[in-house]
Amino acid sequence: MLCDFCDSDSAVALVTTESIPYRNGTLRVEGYESSHCASCGEDFITSEQSRANDRRVLRARAVFDELLTGDQILAIRECLGLSQTEAAEVFGGGPNAFYKYERSEVLVSRAMDLLLRLADSSGDAADWLLQRAGKAKASAAWSTVSQANVVVLNESRRTLRHVTPQDLNVEAANDWYPASGYGEQVAYG
Ligand SMILES: [Zn+2]
Repeated sequence: MLCDFCDSDSAVALVTTESIPYRNGTLRVEGYESSHCASCGEDFITSEQSRANDRRVLRARAVFDELLTGDQILAIRECLGLSQTEAAEVFGGGPNAFYKYERSEVLVSRAMDLLLRLADSSGDAADWLLQRAGKAKASAAWSTVSQANVVVLNESRRTLRHVTPQDLNVEAANDWYPASGYGEQVAYG
């Protein structure tokens, strides 16, 4: 590759493990990239290497601070069946948040870290968050319910209907989501 200093073609890329002071300790950054010119002896870092190094440093900071890494966030998001855009709608952080988290361009906040861990470890929490953002799929819980008594709110009247899951279209299943705490609207039979 070309040398930034002498324009010779004698530069080679080096990959090392860097130790960088951080807080009260040291970050160990593996795969740290730099360039060395065998002709003029200069060391330099290209802009592409710099961007890659920034991502590796950010990942090491996440590990040091015990925050989720980009890979872990990607795994949680995929487990929830959400696109990056949908994940931002459910968890907040702005439309590009998950793209940046997963590329290790931005470190998650402690609050976002805790919210993602909660959604990952508790199906109820994940359901609540998805429901709240209008992202709930046709409720999985309905597939385990053979029949139900549903209070149907029709204008000002309430009527009790006995239904089976086959009676419920997807929209209704979402409206009558049995785990959502809409106790006033749903009664099990
Ligand atoms: Zn050179």
